[in-house]
Amino acid sequence: MNLPEAFVKRIKERELACDDVNAFLVSFDEPPVKAFHLNTAVISKESFEACAYGRESLFFEEIEASDCAYYHKAEHIGHHPFFHAGILYSEDPSAFAVLSGLEIREGERILDLCAAPGGKTSVLARNADKCGASILANETDRGRYKILISNMERMGYHSVSVSNLMPADLALMYPSYFDTVVVDAPCSGEGMFRKYKDSVNEWSPENVSFCSMRQKEILESACKCLKPGGRLIYSTCTYATEEDEDIVRFLTDTQKMTPMDPPGFIKKYASEEKVNGISTFKLFPHRFKGEGQFAAYLKKDGECFTDKLIHHPAAEDKSLKPLSTGQLKTLTEALGTLPDEIKGRLFFKGNNIYYLPERYIFPSKGAASDPGFLMGGMIKGRFMPSHYFFKICGRYLKTYLELSPDGPELKAYLHGEELKEGGALKAVTDGGAFGVIKVLGVPVGGFKYAGGRIKNHYPKGLRNNKL
Ligand code: SAM
Repeated sequence: MNLPEAFVKRIKERELACDDVNAFLVSFDEPPVKAFHLNTAVISKESFEACAYGRESLFFEEIEASDCAYYHKAEHIGHHPFFHAGILYSEDPSAFAVLSGLEIREGERILDLCAAPGGKTSVLARNADKCGASILANETDRGRYKILISNMERMGYHSVSVSNLMPADLALMYPSYFDTVVVDAPCSGEGMFRKYKDSVNEWSPENVSFCSMRQKEILESACKCLKPGGRLIYSTCTYATEEDEDIVRFLTDTQKMTPMDPPGFIKKYASEEKVNGISTFKLFPHRFKGEGQFAAYLKKDGECFTDKLIHHPAAEDKSLKPLSTGQLKTLTEALGTLPDEIKGRLFFKGNNIYYLPERYIFPSKGAASDPGFLMGGMIKGRFMPSHYFFKICGRYLKTYLELSPDGPELKAYLHGEELKEGGALKAVTDGGAFGVIKVLGVPVGGFKYAGGRIKNHYPKGLRNNKL
């Protein structure tokens, strides 16, 4: 790879990779690493491995001591049915390492401040979904915000709400609110040189300085959002000291910060350095099979105080109404009987029905987002479920069709085709008119059942003809 001269000079001068500068520089000529993590909120490691190992469509190998991350060899994992089902999230293992093994408690509120496309949110959400924590995933860039929403929908996470706000606005809306704040900061991207060739062309010492300044600004807001005693996890995908260790010095100089115990996975593979008593880690591609990454783990001084009352959207937004008996009847005809804990959390606004989980962070001001998960709309007295509905509530539907990951039927469904019952293909129809297609027991998308016809409700924008 043609590395910028000034970059190589900086690396050599700082002897960044300790005694291995040459091995480090040679690693830039290796291809980027391909990996994914498993969505353990929807499938256990045992079930996934039992069903998926040995399938020709996906060769994979678990990363030692990781919490369900795997190297793989698929050329285009984004076309794989497991990807469509939200069973896996394609992510560089070094990026995964930052949050893997981080303990999350019930009721915890987490802010992922720079979240798109959603890799780190996904590592958090697979546990938050299970333990009853809630995540606000924020992205400033409008286009990337939409990608983030789409990824969270694909994964079917119900603990994540998404906002499109500047960090300074969030600091005004949520002072001392979050138990954990993750800042995976925009950076000069030196660790991504193998993956994104553009990051090589865009690199310059001036850009390193600009990124460093922007990181300080973002962190000032991040610290305001953090409760006393709360955890701050700062990461970048660059090796530049100005954006890594110097930023940790800035934090300890300007804020009351104390050390936090880092999670185990990164400790196993990364080079550790203490900066003003804070544990910081760098992952180098010649030492760990992954791209470049930096992470630091800090705690805001003080004790976590008792939770403030959570302002639930239904309490704040008076136009959100509980469903009437008539609406519930229409819903039951369409979907069959839903569990009470879901029904009690459905609200009506305009023509739409929203699902508001008990713990849900609602970015009420300035965000163009819905007041909860859009479950569908009432059209001419009938309920039309959304794709999000099938992803989040699909597991409760008693009308469903389980398809083989390798079979032609699943491919046809993901193409957008209608399926017809016949031979071994038979839907279970113990629920309402709408059902869900599943693979390995995990909801992929919806269908409407009409006398042996499986009418396709997989959204047009997600259909895949390359399978
Ligand atoms: N955490 C993401 C993941 O794991 O998939 C990757 C985040 S990426 C390294 C940094 C993100 O910060 C980008 O999506 C970028 O649009 C966003 N960003 C850019 N400027 C920002 C700012 N001033 N404040 C907050 N985020 C910003």
